Parts: sequence; C-alpha cells; structure tokens
Amino acid sequence: MSQRAARVAQWIREDIRDLDAYHVPPADGLIKLDAMENPYVWPESLTDAWLETLRGVGLNRYPDPGAADLKARLGEVMGVPATMDIILGNGSDELIQMIALAMAGPDRVVLAPEPTFVMYRMIATFTGLRYVGVPLKDDFSLDLPTMLAAIEEHRPAVIYLAYPNNPTGNVFDRAAMQAIIEASPGLVVVDEAYSAFASDTFMPDLDRYDNLVVMRTLSKLGLAGLRLGLLAGDNTWLGEFDKVRLPYNINVLTQVSAEFALRHQSVFDAQTTQIRADREQVLARLGLLQGVRVFPSQANFVLFRVAPGQADRIFAALKSAGVLIKNLDRQGGLLADCLRVTVGKPEENEAFLAALQKALV
Ligand SMILES: *Cc1c(COP(=O)(O)O)cnc(C)c1O
Repeated sequence: MSQRAARVAQWIREDIRDLDAYHVPPADGLIKLDAMENPYVWPESLTDAWLETLRGVGLNRYPDPGAADLKARLGEVMGVPATMDIILGNGSDELIQMIALAMAGPDRVVLAPEPTFVMYRMIATFTGLRYVGVPLKDDFSLDLPTMLAAIEEHRPAVIYLAYPNNPTGNVFDRAAMQAIIEASPGLVVVDEAYSAFASDTFMPDLDRYDNLVVMRTLSKLGLAGLRLGLLAGDNTWLGEFDKVRLPYNINVLTQVSAEFALRHQSVFDAQTTQIRADREQVLARLGLLQGVRVFPSQANFVLFRVAPGQADRIFAALKSAGVLIKNLDRQGGLLADCLRVTVGKPEENEAFLAALQKALV
C-alpha cells in the first residue's frame, strides 16, 4: 500500500470507504431514457427572453440568501398552504441531507419502504444515521402491518415515503400512508418529486399532521440542470432545518432562472400533459409484449420485468440499439429482472419499444 493509500485508509471513515460512489453512466450519442429527465427544450422565443433576464444579473454579488421572490412564486405554483413555509435545497437531495444533519445522532433511525429512492439510504450512511428498509409487497404496495411493526420497533426519527415511488412508479395507498404518519413518533417526509405526473398530493394535508413535511423538486418537471428542490411544512420544523443550510445554497443563476421559468408555467404544463399521455401509450404497448410484466405508473417513467435472467442481456441489446434505460436487476430482491424506462419524446419511445421488441425474440 502506498503511503497515501495508508493515510486514506487510516483517516477516511470505514463506512465511507465501503461505499460505491453514485454512478452516472455516460450517454453520449444514446437516446437517454435512464434519468427521468423531461426531453423537451423551450421554444426559441422563451430562451431569448430568459437570456435577456440573465443580462441583468450581477454575478459579483452573493445571491439573496432567503430567495424570497422565488419562494413566493413556488408556493403559488406548488399549492403550498398559506399557513406553511418553504425552504430551498440545491436539488431535493440537499434537503434530504439537511434533514439528516439536523436529526442525526447515536441510534437515530431513518426508515423507508424498499425498494425506493437510493439517496435516503446513502445520505443516512454519510451522516451516521442508521437506515432501516422495510420491504414493499410483491406488487410494490405498502406492507402496512410490517411498516407499523418496524415503526414500533425502531422509533425512527424520519420516515421517507416517495409518492409516487421511485423506481417502482406506483403511488402507495393513501389510507396506509395516513396510518404511517399517525403512528410515526418522528417526522414523515412525503417526497413528491413526480407530482407533476400524479393525481394526488399530500400538500393540502400539511395542516392536518404536526409531523408531516412535503418535498418537491423542479428536476423532473424540466429543470434538472438548475438543481432546485423545496421542502414545504410548518416553520417549527423548517426553522430548524434552515439552521444547517449553507447560507447561499441556491445560486443566483438558479434563482433567476427558476423564477423566470415559473412565470411561464403553461410551457411546462403542456410538456407534462404530453408526457402523461405518452406514458399511457408506453404502458399499453409494453403490456402487449410477450415476456414483459409492466407495473402501473403515475410518474414519468415505467418499471417492467422481463423473464428471469434476461435483464442484463436486454439492457445491453437496447444500448447497442442506441437506447439507454436503467437496469435495476443488480439491486436484486423485488427488483430482480426489472428495468426502468423514462418516458421520452414519442419518437424516442418508439425507438425504445422497437428495440425492446427485437431484443425479446
Ligand atoms: C429524482 C428524485 C429526487 C431528486 O431530485 P433532485 O431535486 O434532482 O435532487 C428526489 N426524490 C425522488 C423520489 C426522486 O426520484
């Protein structure tokens, strides 16, 4: 071992050294249907107006630390109740990190049904929280008795419920979610990253539960490059999380660009409406394929299962055909033989379906 490697082994925490870094596969030249991005860009006139707005931005000054204008606009667009506050994160990933920083401690637990969004587990590990994953049922619905037993046993500081869930795409039963919120001794974060594609939300429920906060992001809406997430909830919680926020976490280009974008919400509404309609097409077409089991989705992606042992081969065949999706088979468990495809433009979805059909025979 080199001297440097020995020093790293001595000083970098063992649990960190044991991790794999979050891997983003290269997508050069491929139809990119692996990351739940909105495939559409803006009309040229809108891009011009945006660039004109940026002209007035002073990069020599720190951004508005409270981002008051942006928060007001977000509150309106996202339907945050007037009684509730908002804090912003550099993507919702940063909000998950802020919650963890404020709540971590010896024997503190983060709990989530599994499979779910991997950052809940990763950030719990980074911050020294113990993570407990509770298996979903075979159809990816909540196993309420097992969840309630796990809550009783572990008394989690935080529970994450992604609604709709990633990578499964389904929404959990609302009554089961409410039972979990009611049984939880700590905070419940309902993560609504895909709310633009779903038909229900817990935003109006914030007033009903003293241990509920709702998280949203602009990423899946069409602004993944900006990195902007928000947490809505009562200031009694949010005021504490705000203390661990780095002072200027939302840069000035993001603040100005997001505000601009939200003034043109109809553009995003049209895009998400299109994506929802195309999702129904993809669901229906996948459902017709022999050897494919497709799962219901209220998100901008679709999870499907192929014949045992075929996922790697089919993933590779699609990639050779120029289509990049997500192979979840390696995560094992309930995700064995599962692949996930983001809904793209109609012609991208056609290319995916054609390549898949070829790979299946
Ligand atoms: C994509 C995703 C996020 C992360 O969103 P960012 O704002 O881009 O950090 C959060 N939660 C879920 C469930 C997601 O799928």
